[in-house]
Amino acid sequence: MTVMPAAFIGHGSPMNALETNRYTSAWRAFGASVPTPRAVLVVSAHWYINATAVTAMARPKTIHDFYGFPPELFAVDYPAPGFPELAEEIADVVQPTWVGADVDSWGIDHGAWSVLVHAFPDADVPIVQLAINAMKPLDYHVELGARLAPLRDSGVLVLGSGNVVHNLGGMDWSLKDDGYDWAQRFDEDAKATLLEDPTNITDLARHRDFRTAVPTPDHFLPMLYLAGLAGVSPTAAAVMVDGYAYGSLSMTSYTLDAPDVPVPATDEGVAEMPDVPPEQTNI
Ligand code: ZN
Repeated sequence: MTVMPAAFIGHGSPMNALETNRYTSAWRAFGASVPTPRAVLVVSAHWYINATAVTAMARPKTIHDFYGFPPELFAVDYPAPGFPELAEEIADVVQPTWVGADVDSWGIDHGAWSVLVHAFPDADVPIVQLAINAMKPLDYHVELGARLAPLRDSGVLVLGSGNVVHNLGGMDWSLKDDGYDWAQRFDEDAKATLLEDPTNITDLARHRDFRTAVPTPDHFLPMLYLAGLAGVSPTAAAVMVDGYAYGSLSMTSYTLDAPDVPVPATDEGVAEMPDVPPEQTNI
């Protein structure tokens, strides 16, 4: 069996779940281009807890973990099955790292489903989420990502979902498709490192713009899992689609071992934001 592609998606606003734009079109084309996975293992920015754990319920619930958004977004349901047996496989493959099995607290959060509704719109591929352990240093996440590599040989698609640049306090709704200079500097340097030198991805912590681009690590860390996978792969990661939103978010997405996907040049940019102040959002 050939190796299953992997990806990191810059998910941006949850409104992307409801929209069609150049980003969501790329996510859709990616999902359509890959062999049907046995399961998708999602590392979402929005499951950031004090433990390493995977979801292990047969019917994961759709979690609406945000506020201030329209009712249509709260009505989104992503009824994909879980895959409890995969939790055991993951626990084996990442040894000696310990990973807990969550049977009743989490499910499929919006970092996952805002992408999955496009990439796997039929919701028929089992979904398992891997929590991001907030207690661990950056290297831990790169190494854990690398340990997931054998799963790719048995048809599991590893999907990180976050944003490499994610500064909610710096968002400016008027800069819909633009990025501040510091956001562009950091995103471009992150891109060069991930594509050319993924085993040194944690050097980005010494970048002059790191504190501004990554004021909290939750949205940055999912990318480190793809860096870990790229670091043990004979092939290099590739850009799926890139761009900026509201000045302080990068929307750059990456693939590993995936066919090139067409990115429409003329579609709308990022999703419109509701009329709520940035501090009341949770994107
Ligand atoms: Zn988010």
